[in-house]
Amino acid sequence: MARIEEYIPIVGESVISDLRLISQELKGKTIQHINSTAVGGGVAEILNRMIPLLRELGVDARWDLIKGGEDFFEVTKKIHNALHGKSENITQKDFSIFIETSLKNMEEVNIYGDIIFIHDPQPIMLIKKKSNQKWIWRCHVDVSSPDSLVWHFLKDFIIEYDAVVFSAPSFSQRLPVRQYLITPSIDPLSDKNKELSQETIDRVLEKYQIPKDKPIITQISRFDRLKDPIGVIEAYRLVKKYNDCRLVLAGGTASDDPEAIQFFQEVKEFAKDAPDIHILLLPHDDIVINALQRASTVIIQKSIKEGFGLTVSEALWKNKPVVASNVGGIPLQIKHKYSGLLCHSIEGAAFAIKQLLNSPAYAKKLAENGKEHIKNNFLITRHIKDYLLLFLSLYYNEDVVYL
Ligand code: UDP
Repeated sequence: MARIEEYIPIVGESVISDLRLISQELKGKTIQHINSTAVGGGVAEILNRMIPLLRELGVDARWDLIKGGEDFFEVTKKIHNALHGKSENITQKDFSIFIETSLKNMEEVNIYGDIIFIHDPQPIMLIKKKSNQKWIWRCHVDVSSPDSLVWHFLKDFIIEYDAVVFSAPSFSQRLPVRQYLITPSIDPLSDKNKELSQETIDRVLEKYQIPKDKPIITQISRFDRLKDPIGVIEAYRLVKKYNDCRLVLAGGTASDDPEAIQFFQEVKEFAKDAPDIHILLLPHDDIVINALQRASTVIIQKSIKEGFGLTVSEALWKNKPVVASNVGGIPLQIKHKYSGLLCHSIEGAAFAIKQLLNSPAYAKKLAENGKEHIKNNFLITRHIKDYLLLFLSLYYNEDVVYL
C-alpha cells in the first residue's frame, strides 16, 4: 500500500505537511470506526484505504464491524431503500429484528475509542453505549427525501450523537446536532485507481471475453435496483440503433445486501443474452474494476439515488468521459457539459452517450476537466484533512463549526 509521501507528486507537499501537523493534535486519541461490511460498496472501499493512512500519520484509527443475520440485513436493506425515498413495507416485526440485533451488537462490540465513528444506519443504535466518548454518525446515503417513518425511527438515535456528517448539502436535515458536509473521496494510488499497463487491461478483457472491436460503455455497480442497470440496458439499446458498441455491466455484491444475487439474475434475463451486452458478477478484485474502467470509451452511472457515487470519481480520475444521473452526490462531481454529462432519463442518457461517441474531442475535453476537478476536490488527502478537522472540532467551542 502507498505511503503518505507518495501522494506528494499528486497533491503537493503542503497538503501532506498539513495532514502531519493536524494529526499531531490528535495524539493520544483513538478513533474507532464501526460499520457493517468489510467488503463491497463505498464505505468499505474508503475505510480500507483511510485507516492505514491515518495510522501512518500517527492517528490511532481502528475499524470494527457489527454482526447480523440474514433477517437483520434484509431489514437494513429495506431501511436503506426507504431512506432513499422508495416505498417499503417495513413492519413492526422488522423494527423488532433491527432492535434485537442491535441489542446483541451492543453487548458484543467493544467500545474503546475516544471518538466513535458510526457509518450508516446498521450500527446506529450503538449510540446507546455512549458514555464520555465523542460520537459521530456518518450518513453515506442520499437522504434528501427519506421515508418519514424510517427517518423518525432513526432520528431518535441520531440526536444523541455529537455530530452528523452528510455527503451533499441537499441531504442535510433539521436536527439539533452539529452537521458537517464532507464529501467522500478516491485513493489515486490504490489498486482501484492506479495506472495500469495495457497488458494488464487486455488480460482482464480477455478473461471476461470482452472483445476490443467496438467502443465499450460501462457501468460498474453493485447489483442494486437503485443503480438502475435495467435503465442502462434500455439506454444502451437506444444508442445501439445508431452507434455500434458494447455494454459492460459489472459489479459484485456486498455482504450486507441480500437482494443482489436475485437482482443480478433479473438483469441478466432482461439483457436476453444479447452478444454485445456483458453482464459480469465479479469477485472482489480492484484491478479488474480498474481495468474495466480504463478499457471503456464512456462510463455511465445511471443511479436513481446515489449517496455520492465513487464510481464517477474513479472514472473521471482515469480520464474517462462520464454520463451520470443528476442525483445525490453526482452533481458535485460533474458540472454538466464541463466535466461530464448529467442525465435525467433513459432517453437523456442515450442522447448523452451518443454525443460522446460521436464527438471524441468533446468527450476528451470533458474527461480532462473531470480529472482536474477530482484532483482538486475528491482525493483521499482532502478527505483525511476534513475528518481530522472534524475530530478536532469535537473538542472545541460547541457553537462554532469551522469546516
Ligand atoms: N465496486 C467494486 N466492485 C464492484 C462494484 C463496485 O469494487 O463489483 C466499488 C466501486 O468501484 C466503488 C464502490 O465499490 O469504489 C462503490 O461506491 P459507490 O459510491 O459508487 O456506490 P455504493 O456501492 O457505495 O452505493
